[in-house]
Amino acid sequence: MLTNTTENTGLRLFNKKTGHKHNFNAGPSILPREVFEEASRAVMNYNETGLSILEIGHRTKIFQAVIDEAISTLKELMHLDASHEVLFLHGGASTQFFQVPMNLLDEKRTAAYTDTGIWGAKAIKEAKLYGNVDVVCSSKADNYTYLPKQFDVKKDAAYLHLTTNNTVYGTQWQDLSLFYDKGVPLVADMSSDILSRDLDFNRFDLIYAGAQKNIGAAGVNVVVVKKDILGKVSRSLPTMMDYRNHIENGSLLNTPPVFAIYVCMLTLRWLKNVGGVSAIEKVNNEKATLLYDTLDSLPVFKGTVAKEDRSKMNAVFVAQDEATEKEFLSLCEQEGMIGVKGHRSVGGFRASMYNALPLESVQAITDLMKYFAQRKG
Ligand SMILES: *Cc1c(COP(=O)(O)O)cnc(C)c1O
Repeated sequence: MLTNTTENTGLRLFNKKTGHKHNFNAGPSILPREVFEEASRAVMNYNETGLSILEIGHRTKIFQAVIDEAISTLKELMHLDASHEVLFLHGGASTQFFQVPMNLLDEKRTAAYTDTGIWGAKAIKEAKLYGNVDVVCSSKADNYTYLPKQFDVKKDAAYLHLTTNNTVYGTQWQDLSLFYDKGVPLVADMSSDILSRDLDFNRFDLIYAGAQKNIGAAGVNVVVVKKDILGKVSRSLPTMMDYRNHIENGSLLNTPPVFAIYVCMLTLRWLKNVGGVSAIEKVNNEKATLLYDTLDSLPVFKGTVAKEDRSKMNAVFVAQDEATEKEFLSLCEQEGMIGVKGHRSVGGFRASMYNALPLESVQAITDLMKYFAQRKG
């Protein structure tokens, strides 16, 4: 029984010298070491300006250069065409749950929504405040353990909304072409898998994502919007809620979250330097393959979702009973592995493997899984 005593697993902590842990947190989550180092220097003295990044004005040349680089790097990484605008807004992805219908859904019209998890369900709830919602598919009755691929979208729908990666349940749409060419604007919550794989981002009319998973620090979200879908609803919008005002003001309509945007810029720069989205996709595939192959080879653990829908960002699995789960979790803690406990609605385990999580961390947890399985006999 593993309780308080430290077991000699023969494995090693991630980095005994820096004390940095294997971080499987679902969000806020791991960011590249280089980003932490650079950001910590900027807190003390940003680029030898004699100012901390925390005390610079947002309407200065210094910050303008930061947000310009963040926007241009994101456009480059996503290969966005000229009709798409990039915004950095407040309020997290959850604010987009209502800002999207506010801007795109007239009261008498209907928007099509896919119901594939907690986040999608929240988006549906908010959209209903502004118009009609047609839930075109749902896997709720099966606790969201698969992705429902049969659905029809009416030609007069105001837009079609999906969640590309269901962070809580660990499912991810692998074939997004299912959503293309429906003849209506396509809107996606990509909070937990944006920039993790090569997609034709120009196929989407509006993409939103909280930054705290793959883009940077918590406190800001990214919205990519095709300008020509805006300005078509009849309701009046509060100034801060109208995307067009943010476009016109270059995301500087009011004081933006300066530091959070700065950390996004650094993380985007890092992603560009390591080779961009297709390069990180290869690493993400390697990580996911290792995790799931290990999972499938060990009878003590079991995946919870349909294999073809497994997420490469969040692997969700369970053990045979709660006592065994507790044992493995305490072993994780001992070995410096953080954030492995599953979401309260699923239980078990969730290992999040965002862009910045190194392959070594997945090697470490799979080694620990094998060690644990062997010990359990
Ligand atoms: C984390 C997450 C959210 C919520 O983001 P907030 O920034 O906390 O509002 C929404 N959707 C998805 C898919 C997420 O993973």
